[in-house]
Amino acid sequence: MKRFLVLPILFFLAACNSKAPAPAHTTLPSPAAPVTIAPNLSVLEIEKGVFVVSHEFPIAQANSMVVDISPKDLLIIDAPWTSASTRDLLKWAKDTFGDRKITAINTHSHMDRVAGNDVFLAEGADVYSSDLTIKYVKKSKPTELKSLASRVSDPAIKAEFAKMKIREANHSFPLKEGKTLSFGEKKAEIFYPGHGHTKDNVVVYLPDYKILYGGCFIVGLPKLGYIKEADLKEWPKALDKMSRFDAKWVIPGHGTSYSPDLIEHTKKLVK
Ligand SMILES: [Zn+2]
Repeated sequence: MKRFLVLPILFFLAACNSKAPAPAHTTLPSPAAPVTIAPNLSVLEIEKGVFVVSHEFPIAQANSMVVDISPKDLLIIDAPWTSASTRDLLKWAKDTFGDRKITAINTHSHMDRVAGNDVFLAEGADVYSSDLTIKYVKKSKPTELKSLASRVSDPAIKAEFAKMKIREANHSFPLKEGKTLSFGEKKAEIFYPGHGHTKDNVVVYLPDYKILYGGCFIVGLPKLGYIKEADLKEWPKALDKMSRFDAKWVIPGHGTSYSPDLIEHTKKLVK
C-alpha cells in the first residue's frame, strides 16, 4: 500500500495574519520520514537519492538539498547556516555514499545559502553561482556574519560565526544566461527567473526527478519574511516563468511543505 506524506498544513492554518490563504493541501507521496543526521540537522528522502536537508537554526529553519545524481557525483544545492553543520552534512554524505565528486550550487548570496562554501571548497568541490552572487558575497561577507552573530544568543553559535570564513564560488555563470550542469545522463538546470527575493536569486530544476528547487525565491512560510532586497513588482512576473517546469516537487528556502502549490502561495503573498 502506498504511503503518503500529508503536508504540514497546520503550520499554514496557524498563520491567521497572513495576507494569503494557505496553499492547497496537495498530498504528495513520500518514501520515508525525516532522519536526524546531526544536531539540528535532518534529511528527508523525497525521491530515490534526493534528500531535502532541514537545518533548525535560531534565526530561521532553512532548507538545502543533496542529490545522489550519478555513481561518481553528489550535487548539493545551498547549505546549512554554519560551517560546522555543513561539515556534519558532508560526514553523513560520505558515510552514506562514499567518496564522491561534489558539485555545489549557491542560489543567492545570503548566508543560509553560501555559508557552506568554505567547507565545500576545502573538499575540492566545484561550487557554482552567478557572477552577481559572487560580487555580492565578496561585498557582504565582512559584515553579514557580524550582523547574524548579533541576532543569536547562543554563545556556541556566536563563537562558530566568529571563526567562519565566507568564500565565494569557484565557478560562475552570467546570471541571465543561467547554466546547465550534466552528470552522466542527468541534468541540473540553473535558471534566473528575474528579481524576486533578491536581484541574484536563481532556481534549480532537476528534470530527471521533476523537482524544482526554488530556494528563497519560493516562500514556504505563511509570511514573506525578509524583503529588504526583494522586488515585489517583478517577483510575480518571475513566478509566472515557473510554468515552464513540469515540477512534481517544489522546495522552498524555508519551511516543510514541498508542494507545487507554493508557487501560487508565493504569488499571493507578494501581490
Ligand atoms: Zn535570502
